[in-house]
Amino acid sequence: MIKVAKFGGSSVADAGQFKKVKDIVRSDPDRRFVVVSAAGKRFSDDNKITDLLLLVNAHINYHVDCTSLLADIEERFVELARELGIKYPIAQKFEEFSSVIKSLSPEYIVSRGEWFTARLMAEYLGLPFLDAADAIVFHHDGTIDTERTATQVKDAVQRLGSFVLPGFYGATVDGTIKLFQRGGGDITGAILARCLDADVYENWTDVSGFLSADPRIVDNPRTIHRITFDEMRELSYMGASVLQEEAIFPVREVGIPIQIKNTNRPDKRGTIIRETAEEGAQEHLITGIAGKKDFLAVHVQKAHMSNAVGVIRRALGIFERYGVSVEHIPTGVDSFGVVVNGADVKDTIYSIINDMQQELKPDSINLVDKLALISVVGRNMSRRPGTSGRVFGVLGEAGINIRMITQSSQEISIIVGVNNEDFERAINVIYEKFVSDEMVDMVRGEVQ
Ligand code: ADP
Ligand code: ASP
Ligand code: MG
Repeated sequence: MIKVAKFGGSSVADAGQFKKVKDIVRSDPDRRFVVVSAAGKRFSDDNKITDLLLLVNAHINYHVDCTSLLADIEERFVELARELGIKYPIAQKFEEFSSVIKSLSPEYIVSRGEWFTARLMAEYLGLPFLDAADAIVFHHDGTIDTERTATQVKDAVQRLGSFVLPGFYGATVDGTIKLFQRGGGDITGAILARCLDADVYENWTDVSGFLSADPRIVDNPRTIHRITFDEMRELSYMGASVLQEEAIFPVREVGIPIQIKNTNRPDKRGTIIRETAEEGAQEHLITGIAGKKDFLAVHVQKAHMSNAVGVIRRALGIFERYGVSVEHIPTGVDSFGVVVNGADVKDTIYSIINDMQQELKPDSINLVDKLALISVVGRNMSRRPGTSGRVFGVLGEAGINIRMITQSSQEISIIVGVNNEDFERAINVIYEKFVSDEMVDMVRGEVQ
C-alpha cells in the first residue's frame, strides 16, 4: 500500500507541529512519501513564510532594503532546527541564499519557503530530500509535463526508496523554477500520488475534514465524512477552500481517493473524497453549503427569444470581448441572465450593457448587483424531487428575497442568489432546515 501524505503550512509551522508530523508518518509504514508546504502561521496573526517571501520580492522590486525581513525568516528556520536538534547547517545555507537574493528570480525566492521547510523535515524524519526542481516538470507555459514528471518521480523512487518533497513549485527542463497558484502544495501532493499510483492521497491540515458550511458563518458545522469529487468541486468553487481547486484533477482521473485529515487530531475520521460515495444508512440529503458575495447579474428579456437562434451566444461573445468570465447563465423561455463576478466588470459594465443594447436589441435589460450566490450541494438531491422548492420555501419563510435561481446540470447543486446583506442569514436558515434537522431530511427508503 502506498500513501502520499501532504502536510499544509499550519502542520509544519513550528517544532511542536513537526513532532506531530513525525508521529503521524511513523505510525504507518505505508506513509513513505511526504510533501510539505512552507511553514505557515503558528498563531492567528502570525505570518506564513510564503507571504514573507512575497514581501521580500516586493522590497526588491521597489529597491527597499529587506535585510531585517530576511533575518526574521531565517530566525524561524533556525529556531525550528534548534528546537528539534536538526544538524543541517540552516543558518549558513539561508545566508548563502540571502547574500545572492537580488540575482534570483521572484519564483525562485518564493519557492525557498517549501525548500527549506522540506530540508528540515527530511532530516527530522530521517528520510531523503527530493528537490521538486528535480521531480515536478513544468512546460514553459506553466502547465505540467506529466510524462517527464512521472519519469523523474519513478527514477527518484528507484534511487531513494522514499522521500520528502517540497510542494508548490517545480522547474522547466532548463531548470527555471515555476510556482503553482497559492495553496499549490495540494497540487504537488496530487501529482505525486498519481505518479506513484498511490492508494490514497492524504491531505493533512488544521481541520478535521471538510465542513458542511463555513465555520465563520455557521456555528460548529457538521463534518462531511464522505463526499464525491463533483460535490467537492461545487463547494470549493463557491469558496469552501480546504483543498486548492486544481488539486483534485490529477488523482481523480486515475481513481485515487483523497483523505482530508487533521494533524492536530489524527484520531478523527476526516473526510474521504471519491468518485462515488458509497451509500449507507446515514445518507444525507444535502452534503454542504457554500457561497460567495459580490456577484452581478445582467437579465435580458426579449420576446420570442426561444425561437431566435444565437442570442445567448452573442451576449456571451460581448462578455468574452471584455475578457470577463461568466459564472452562470440562468435561462427562462424569453429571458436569460448572465452572472459575473462584480469585481471583473467594475469599470466596464456600462459599456457591456451598451453593446448588449446595440447587438441584441432586447425588450429590456436589468442589472442586479451586490448579489450573493449560495450553492446547496448534495448528490442525493436528484433522487428527492421538490428539494429546490423546499429551499425556496425556507428562504421565503425567513423573509429573504431570492434574486436568482439556477441548478447545475448534474442536479447535484441548487444555486440561489440573494442580496449580499442576506447572505449569512440565508446560509444559516438553509443549514438549520436541511443539515441540523437531519432526522427529517435523511434520505431514507431509497437507501437501505
Ligand atoms: P493548509 O495550510 O493545511 O493547506 P488551508 O488553510 O489551505 O490549510 O486549508 C484549511 C482551511 O480551510 C481551514 O483552516 C478552514 O479555515 C478553511 N475552510 C474553508 N472552508 C472550509 C470548509 N467547508 N471545511 C473545512 N475548512 C474550511
Ligand atoms: N506555501 C504556499 C502558499 O502559502 C503553498 C501551500 O501552502 O500549499 O500558498
Ligand atoms: Mg492549503
